Amino acid sequence: MSLKNYGEAEIQEDLNKLLLKVQKELKKKMFPRKHIKLLWRDVNIGLKKLDDTILGTYETIKDKDNELKIHHKININNWVYDEYKNGLYGLGIEKRYCKRRLNNTIAHELIHAYVYEKYEWLGDEYGFHRDGSPVFLSILVFLNIPSGHAAMKGFKHTDIYKKVKEYVSFESLEIYLIHLTCEYEKKFRYLETIILQDENKVYINNFTFSAGDTTGLKGEVTNTAIIKGCMSKANIFTIGANADIDKLNDLVLSKVNRNVFETKHVMLYCETIRDKRNKYKLQSMNI
Ligand SMILES: [Zn+2]
Repeated sequence: MSLKNYGEAEIQEDLNKLLLKVQKELKKKMFPRKHIKLLWRDVNIGLKKLDDTILGTYETIKDKDNELKIHHKININNWVYDEYKNGLYGLGIEKRYCKRRLNNTIAHELIHAYVYEKYEWLGDEYGFHRDGSPVFLSILVFLNIPSGHAAMKGFKHTDIYKKVKEYVSFESLEIYLIHLTCEYEKKFRYLETIILQDENKVYINNFTFSAGDTTGLKGEVTNTAIIKGCMSKANIFTIGANADIDKLNDLVLSKVNRNVFETKHVMLYCETIRDKRNKYKLQSMNI
């Protein structure tokens, strides 16, 4: 690491300049000839020692006293900046490649911030700004900004991707994306509670877009309890852009019926003897 050759203030100044430059370029591509800001909230950028395979990260920082007051934080991995300054292996080779990589990383993280600001009112709880979200991926594809996650590779096989490729202006793409967001939101709300009256079962389902690794639907956590003879399951799913939301109902039921979850809990609360008996039955069923 040869970052010691630069002073902290010098690096910060350099990063701030780059951030402004990339922000300007994005605004020009997304809203040409319009006098609007790309982001309303402040953006901080800094270097951070991250896992070697990561180029940068994005964080939404909420004010301690006021949850509605937020700012964006972009972290660039130390080595990405170092290679931008020195070229690969410090030999000055491939400098252009390293420059483009840092610019692309900043652009990628800025799009996280943009989607957070623009779509949070529709469903912050679902994380439309995350790496696995079809809205986030659509904007990256439109602007030709790379993403190293599996979610991007998978996204190229979706109908959403094909549609995105047809749009020539960002504003028309965004009308489509807002409709798409509403479709997802409607589906998630609809599937929040599934009641199977005949079988005496209630399923409560929560959905969050993946951090980039999951492309389809993944069962993360399930909490099973029997309350007054009714089996209730509280489930958390992560979802990627390749999950067909027209079939989401079946996909969810299939995961629940086969009990395919990374983490499984059985709640120990029992009200009656019958509940207790059911609890032991549940435990022996490995639910
Ligand atoms: Zn990302």
